[in-house]
Amino acid sequence: MTNRGAARARSGHHWVYRSDVERAAGEVGDVVRVTDKARRFLGYAFYNPKSEITLRIVTREEEEVNEAVFHARIERAQAYRKSLDIDADAYRLLHAEADGIPGLVVDRYGDFFVLQAGSAAIERRLNWILAALEDLFAPAGVLLRGDSAARRKEGLETEVRVLSGEVPEGVVVREGQVRYRAQLWTGQKTGGFLDQRENHLAVEHYARDRVLDVFSYAGGFALHAARFANSVEAVDSSGDALKVVCANAELNDLSNVTFTRANAFDLLRERSDAGERYDTVILDPPALAKTKRDLSAAARAYKEINLRALKLLSDGGILFTCSCSYHFSREMLEATLRSAAADAGRVVRVREWRGQAKDHPEILAIPETRYLKCAVLECL
Ligand code: SAH
Repeated sequence: MTNRGAARARSGHHWVYRSDVERAAGEVGDVVRVTDKARRFLGYAFYNPKSEITLRIVTREEEEVNEAVFHARIERAQAYRKSLDIDADAYRLLHAEADGIPGLVVDRYGDFFVLQAGSAAIERRLNWILAALEDLFAPAGVLLRGDSAARRKEGLETEVRVLSGEVPEGVVVREGQVRYRAQLWTGQKTGGFLDQRENHLAVEHYARDRVLDVFSYAGGFALHAARFANSVEAVDSSGDALKVVCANAELNDLSNVTFTRANAFDLLRERSDAGERYDTVILDPPALAKTKRDLSAAARAYKEINLRALKLLSDGGILFTCSCSYHFSREMLEATLRSAAADAGRVVRVREWRGQAKDHPEILAIPETRYLKCAVLECL
């Protein structure tokens, strides 16, 4: 590979882009030996010439990448999750590169496991993964959610199918003191926003009186907030998401949650123009910057919703604001929030900065594995 690619690989990054591959031999999904120009060994990698990320390094050792390696990595991933004392029965068991299996995500919902196979090499080795899951967990069912955008980039078919056992449409799981229904076949991601779990729990500490949960989806924040607030209004543009929030509120005997179907941008503007006041506002929009090209539009959008939210807050009110766009860095979010606070004329105290839950670990050398940022801000 090119000197640039080799330097990147030596820095610890696992990805090699197509433009850094000089010569390659193999089929889509093969494990190939990777060397620099001088033929010095760099590792073994998953190979996919159809993907922009052509090589994903699996090991830097001279070892065969076989079923035993997969088993050991899944076992290690579970040992790490165990050490976290997760107060929930849905969590991410395996987080791709950050757990040593590039392109593979395994989420656990009680006795059911949902896989996302984002690379051709994983697709070819699903039987190894199933064997390891069977051995370690004896799952009631394993579902493949092959409908992510990542798959299209890898030239893979989009499909959702059962790999073993039986998998129901939805399953009720627990997150702290809240129970919710995760839609395994059709829900966003693998059925829930597991990366927000610790933040959902943290909201219990901040939520009080009148709460507005914007971009609520199935109510990840709203349900936890409702346990400590007088009233919570969940807002989403998706009617299906709101139906699930409604069912989830019932499941938890929470009668103080209301649901509004609206475009968040319009609703925030209307409410702030009308002089409404809330004590806690939660903003968890979808990734507004999916690529670098979207950055300036995303900055405007993040600023708009945060500006409105700050205007809506009572004195002492809390804004719990998130960005899951990798490209929109923590620094950019911070600058955007600063500018929104200035325009809103509010003095804002930073209570804390938060990130993705610990079962979605990041690898120091792969900046792309840190994507979720949440600021908890108090309006003085
Ligand atoms: N807060 C949720 C996850 C939110 S995902 C949790 O923690 O579980 C983002 C949500 O924003 C999706 O449900 C999507 O339907 C909704 N959404 C996207 N664009 C929107 C818009 N313009 N207005 C309102 N909701 C929107």
